[in-house]
Amino acid sequence: MKFRRFSEEIMNKSLKILAVEDSGSDAELNFRELEKAGYTVSFTLVDNLTDMQSALNNEIFDVVLSDHNMPQFSSEGALTLLKDSNKDIPFVIVSGAIGEEVAVQMMKAGAQDYVMKRNLSRLAPVIERELKDAESRRQRRRSEEKLRQSEERFSQVVEIAGEMIWEVNTEMLFLYVNPVSELVTGFKPEEMIGKMYLFDLAGQETREEYKAAIIDSFKNQKALKGYTLNCILEGRERVLEISATPILDDNNELRGYRGTCTDITERKKMEAQIDELYKQEKVHRQKLQEEAEVKNIFIDVLAHELRNSLTSLVVSSDILQETPELSDEMRSKLVSNVCEGAKILTQHLDELLDLARYSKGNFELKLQTVDVSEFIGQVASRYRPNLLKRNQTLVLEISADLKLAKLDKSRIEQVIINLLSNASKYSSENTVITMKVKMESAGLLVEVIDNGVGIALEDQKNLFQPYYRAGKQKGIPGIGLGLAVSKKIVEAHGGQIWINSQLGQGSTFSFLIPNIN
Ligand code: ADP
Repeated sequence: MKFRRFSEEIMNKSLKILAVEDSGSDAELNFRELEKAGYTVSFTLVDNLTDMQSALNNEIFDVVLSDHNMPQFSSEGALTLLKDSNKDIPFVIVSGAIGEEVAVQMMKAGAQDYVMKRNLSRLAPVIERELKDAESRRQRRRSEEKLRQSEERFSQVVEIAGEMIWEVNTEMLFLYVNPVSELVTGFKPEEMIGKMYLFDLAGQETREEYKAAIIDSFKNQKALKGYTLNCILEGRERVLEISATPILDDNNELRGYRGTCTDITERKKMEAQIDELYKQEKVHRQKLQEEAEVKNIFIDVLAHELRNSLTSLVVSSDILQETPELSDEMRSKLVSNVCEGAKILTQHLDELLDLARYSKGNFELKLQTVDVSEFIGQVASRYRPNLLKRNQTLVLEISADLKLAKLDKSRIEQVIINLLSNASKYSSENTVITMKVKMESAGLLVEVIDNGVGIALEDQKNLFQPYYRAGKQKGIPGIGLGLAVSKKIVEAHGGQIWINSQLGQGSTFSFLIPNIN
């Protein structure tokens, strides 16, 4: 039964035998036994070392069947020759007279088995077993070779990889790092392996913090992706990105981690720069939007201002023309309306032209040496009548040590009048406006002080921008250009203009013209 199954399995299986045998008839017996078992046998018969050597060199055999004692050869010699040839072919001794002891020795030396000639029925099962063993040995060798090749490939890749590759145990102690690690960390592999822990890369100060953080990140044996480690390596701030995967043994026990460290310092810097540029662009865009809004408001204000002045001018002149029977008082009021309207229109037009000119830097100062106290006195007396309408008073505080100054008289007068007119516009009737003028070591300082509406802090920084009007100045004439023009003029003198104010508490506008020699 057993025999039949066996013979079915090997039916038609060819067997190439190297027969080391001096007796052809004994060899025949062996082959017949094998053919009975279903093998198709082919063979080469040799009985000496030279022939066996040449047969091994020239042919491929499945099995070597060797007699033990031959006149010119022996099974020991045949086995040694086979081993020396490095061919993994099963070697089976078939002998009529081998003692147990010798047979055991031969098997120790590498023979697979021995079969007594009087018990030849063992031959086929022994050969079948040995063929199977030889095949599994071959397969194992092939997989070992594949594994070796793949390990070799892997280790070559790891060795030349562009990023740091490492392996740590469960304590995070480095068990392996590739050569690139030195470029990333500044430590040689031999300084790290078995000596440093992963969190040591964080440096002394933050080591403990990162130890806790890394252990926490690794908990539950999960893979880690893109963990960022800020560290100082070789005295330089670096950002490392760690990715890792747990190493588990056959029992699913955690053995450590394997992963990569990528130096992303430059990438982080670039990201920060991009962020910064993005923020700047946002601020810029917002500023442009605000400017566009301010300009739109300005156009409305300008149109409104021009229309108001023009309406009063046109209506007054129409009445003057069409109504001859007007009283003297009425006539003089209408004439005054026409003059006032024309004056305001001219003033706004001048402001617009001035701004355009100053913005382009398209003007020259006409500097002249001026007696400051005389100049200020003249400006004040020219302006005072404007204050009468609102019953306001201008108090001048001119320090006694005022000297000569070099400035463009008409432009500085324009600045002072702007400030006085604002102080008047943005204050109630019957109030006092003070102008203080003194000589500081840095230059000529002029301050215009009022007790008017004051200006909120958030508006103050924009006041000197063209078109900007703080708060809601309903009913207060103006187009938001006076301070912008004043700033240009003061700066053209190399000076500065600034404000001190609190909402509801009045304002002080100051400007300084440095000494020009
Ligand atoms: P405007 O023609 O609107 O007066 P300015 O450029 O002279 O233009 O002033 C800009 C804005 O500054 C004014 O709209 C006003 O809101 C504010 N301002 C200027 N001077 C004063 C002041 N003395 N008191 C309160 N607000 C002022």
